[in-house]
Amino acid sequence: MTHAIVARQAGGPEVLAYEEAERPVPGPGQLLLKVGAAGVNFIDTYKRSGTYKVPYPFIPGSEAAGTVEEVGDGVTGFVPGDRVATAEGINCYADYALVDEAKALPVPPHLDDATAAALPLQGMTAHFLINSTFKVEAGHRVLVHAGAGGVGLLLIQLLKDKGAEVVTTVSTDEKEQLALDAGADHVLRYGGFSKRVREITGGAGADVVYDGVGKDTFDGSLSALRVRGTLVLFGAASGPVPPLDPQRLNAGGSLFLTRPTIAHHLQDAAERRWRSDEIFAAAARGSLKVRIGARYPLVRAAQAHRDLEGRRTTGKVILVP
Ligand code: NDP
Repeated sequence: MTHAIVARQAGGPEVLAYEEAERPVPGPGQLLLKVGAAGVNFIDTYKRSGTYKVPYPFIPGSEAAGTVEEVGDGVTGFVPGDRVATAEGINCYADYALVDEAKALPVPPHLDDATAAALPLQGMTAHFLINSTFKVEAGHRVLVHAGAGGVGLLLIQLLKDKGAEVVTTVSTDEKEQLALDAGADHVLRYGGFSKRVREITGGAGADVVYDGVGKDTFDGSLSALRVRGTLVLFGAASGPVPPLDPQRLNAGGSLFLTRPTIAHHLQDAAERRWRSDEIFAAAARGSLKVRIGARYPLVRAAQAHRDLEGRRTTGKVILVP
C-alpha cells in the first residue's frame, strides 16, 4: 500500500492527514511518477485553507521530482526509469503522483531529486516575472518582497544576472544574510520600506516592485514606485489585498498594476521548455543556487505548512516520501 496526504475539508494544517492510498494508474498520455521529493508552495496553503476552492478529498501538491515508474497509452517521450520534474503534477504530496507527459520536464543528470523538485514552480515563476510580466533590464531598480523565501532567493539571483539593482525586504537577521548572500544590494525590514526605497533611488522610486506578500505590503509597494512604475502583485502570503480605487494608480504616478499567475505563462510546450530549460541550466552550471531551507518526511506535511505560514522557513520547503 502506498501513502498520500489527504485533506477531507478546508482548514488549518491539521486537516492534512497521512493516509493509505491506492497507487494511481496513469491514463492515456500520463506518467506515473515515483516521487523522490515534492515541493511545498504557498499556493498549497491557499488550497488547504479554502482561500482557493478545491474538491474533497483533496491531495495537495503540484510540484515534484522523481522517477517514471509506468507510462500510459500514447506516451512517446518518456520510458520507465527516466527522471522527471513538474510544476503541474497531480496530487504530488504522495508516494506516487501522475504527470501529463506534456507537463513533464526532463531532469539534468547531476541534479538530485530535492533540487529538481525545488525549481519548477518557484523557478519558472521567477522566470516569467522578470522576462514576461515586466522585462527587467540592466540598470532597472527593483524591489522584491520576502527576499529570503523560495521565490525571493531565486528572483534576487536572476535579477542580479540581468544587471538590475535589487532592494529586498525580510523579517529577520538570518533572512537578511541569506538575501545578501544571494546578491541583494540593499536589504530592508518592512517598516518604512517605501521611504527607504525612495532614498536609495535618489527620490525617484523603483521601476518595478515584485510583491508576493500582499495585504501588508500592497499600499507601500505602490508608494515605492517611480512615475509610471509597475507593481507586480503575484501572491498573498500575508492575506488578500482589499479592492482598490483605480484613482490610486493615477495619484501614485500613472502606475501599472498587474496580478499574474504561472498558469498563463506555461501556455504551450515551447513556453514551458523555454522557462524550464533556462532555470535548470542555470542551476546545473551553478549560477543559480538553490537553497533547500527545510526538508520534512511526507508524514509531517502539516508541520511544513505550519512553518511556511509561520514565516519560519527560508528558500525551498521539500517533502520526502
Ligand atoms: P515564501 O518562501 O516566500 O514564504 C512566504 C514569505 O512571505 C515568508 O517566509 C515571509 O518572509 C513573507 N511574509 C510576509 N508576511 C507574511 C505573513 N503575514 N505570513 C506569512 N509569510 C509572510 O513562499 P513561496 O516562495 O512559496 O511564495 C512566495 C509568494 O509567491 C506567495 O505569495 C505565493 O503565493 C506566490 N507565488 C505566486 C505564483 C504565481 O504564479 N503568481 C507562483 C509561486 C508563488 P519574511 O519573514 O522575510 O517576511
